[in-house]
Amino acid sequence: MTVPAEANVCIVGAGAAGLMAAVAAGRSLKATGASGTIVALDGAKTLGAKILVAGGGRCNVTHWRVTESEYAVNRPAVRSVLRRFGADETVHFFDQLGVELKREETGKLFPVTDSARTVLNALLRAVQDAGASIVHPARVTGVSRSEQGFTVTGAWGSMRAARVILATGGMALPRSGSDGAGYEFARTLGHSLTPAIRPALVPLTLPSGHWITELSGLTIHAELVLRGPTGKRLVHFANSTLCTHFGLSGPSVLDISRYLLDARDREPGTTLILNWMPGESADAADAWLLAAKGRGLLTVLRERLPERLARAILVQARLAPDATVQQTPREARRTLVELLVATSLPIEGDRGFTHAEVTAGGVPIEEVDLGSMESLACPGLSLCGEVLDVDGRIGGFNFQWAWATGWIAGQAAARAIAAIPQPTA
Ligand SMILES: Cc1cc2nc3c(=O)[nH]c(=O)nc-3n(C[C@H](O)[C@H](O)[C@H](O)COP(=O)(O)OP(=O)(O)OC[C@H]3O[C@@H](n4cnc5c(N)ncnc54)[C@H](O)[C@@H]3O)c2cc1C
Repeated sequence: MTVPAEANVCIVGAGAAGLMAAVAAGRSLKATGASGTIVALDGAKTLGAKILVAGGGRCNVTHWRVTESEYAVNRPAVRSVLRRFGADETVHFFDQLGVELKREETGKLFPVTDSARTVLNALLRAVQDAGASIVHPARVTGVSRSEQGFTVTGAWGSMRAARVILATGGMALPRSGSDGAGYEFARTLGHSLTPAIRPALVPLTLPSGHWITELSGLTIHAELVLRGPTGKRLVHFANSTLCTHFGLSGPSVLDISRYLLDARDREPGTTLILNWMPGESADAADAWLLAAKGRGLLTVLRERLPERLARAILVQARLAPDATVQQTPREARRTLVELLVATSLPIEGDRGFTHAEVTAGGVPIEEVDLGSMESLACPGLSLCGEVLDVDGRIGGFNFQWAWATGWIAGQAAARAIAAIPQPTA
C-alpha cells in the first residue's frame, strides 16, 4: 500500500502506542458517525518488533496493579493518565479482542498463549476492524505545520494531515525502528526535551576483570541499594540478579539502572551497593557467622549462597575456605560481612540503548494536556508512549503507559476530527 496524499489523522509510528491510537481513533470516529481517514506510518519492515521481543517473546502486557509509584518521574501526571486508562481497561480491551491474560506470581500479566504474536496479531486486526490503516515501511523524515495543517514527509513523498499523533517511541533497541527521530520532530514543532535522554532498564558494566565478572552465568536473588553521598538509601530493588562477563544484569539491576545513571550526573558520590543476602543487616550477618562455631567458612557460607559465589567472596576477603570464624581476625570478619551484605559496585557505565528496554527522558509530560495528550505547544499534534518523558520499572508498566496514552490520544484526535464540520455533498 502506498502512502495516501491526505489523511485526517496521521499517526507517526505503529508500535504499542501508535497501534493503540489507531484503534481508539478509528473506533471513536465510527461511533460519532463522522467520516475520516486514519493512517499510521511506520518505518519498520516488520511491525511490532518490540511487542514480539517483549517479556522474552511472551509480552508482559501489563501488571495486575498499576499505580504511579511504579514510574520514575512525573507521578501525578502518570496517576492522571492511569485514572483514564488503567490496568483494568487494558485487560478489558485485550479481552474484547480475544486475548485472555493470565496473572503470574510476580503480578505480571501475559497472554494465556504465552506468545507475544497473539497480542500483535490482535492489535493489527483491531486496527483494521476500526477502519484505520497502516502503511509500512514508510519512514517519516519530517513533520511541519502550517495554517492548513500538517505535512508529513519521507522518501515516499508527502502527506497532508489535519492532525498528527507522534508515537515514535524512544531510543531503546534502535534496530526495531525506534531511533529517536521523533524527538527532533517534537522539537521542531515547538517542544523542549529533557536535558538528558538516557537508556533505562539497562545492564550495567563493571571494570574488565572485576571478580563479579568471573561469576558470569550466576543468578541470585539479591538486593541493590543506591546510596547518596551521605550514605542515605535513595532507592533499592530486591530481585533476581545476574552476573555476566561485562558486569550485572537481571531485573534488580535493570530496575535500578535509571536511578544510578541519573543520580551520577546530579549527585556525585552516589554508590551502588549489592546485598547478596537481601534483608540481612551487617549485624545479623555477623551474628550468623559467629553462631557457626567450629565449622569452615565455606561450609557456613554455602548454607546461604551458591558455592561459586561463596568461594569468590572468601577470596576477596583473603580468607581460607576451611578457616573457622574463631580463627578469623575481627577485621577480616568485618570485611567478610561487608562483602556479604554491602559489596560496593564500581559501575563503569551501561550497555547503551542497544541493550536497554526503555528510554529515560524525552518530551516533558507538562507539555501535553493529560486529558487528550494534545500538545500545549502545537495545536493538532498529540504525543503518546515512550517519546514522552515517562519510564517505569520492569513488570508491564511501560506497555501500560503506551496503551493508556495511545488510547487517550487516539480518542481525542478522532473527537476533534468529528467536531470539524464535514463538507456537504
Ligand atoms: C527487549 C525489550 C523488551 C521489553 N519488554 C517489555 C515488557 O515485557 N513489558 C513492558 O511493559 N515493556 C517492555 N518493553 C518496553 C516497551 O516495549 C516499550 O515501552 C513500548 O514498546 C513503547 O511503545 P511506543 O509505541 O511508545 O514505542 P515503540 O514500541 O518503540 O514504537 C515506536 C514505533 O515508531 C516507529 N518509528 C520510529 N521513528 C519513526 C519514523 N521516523 N518514521 C516512521 N516510524 C517510526 C518504530 O518503527 C516503531 O514501530 C520492552 C522493551 C524492549 C526493548
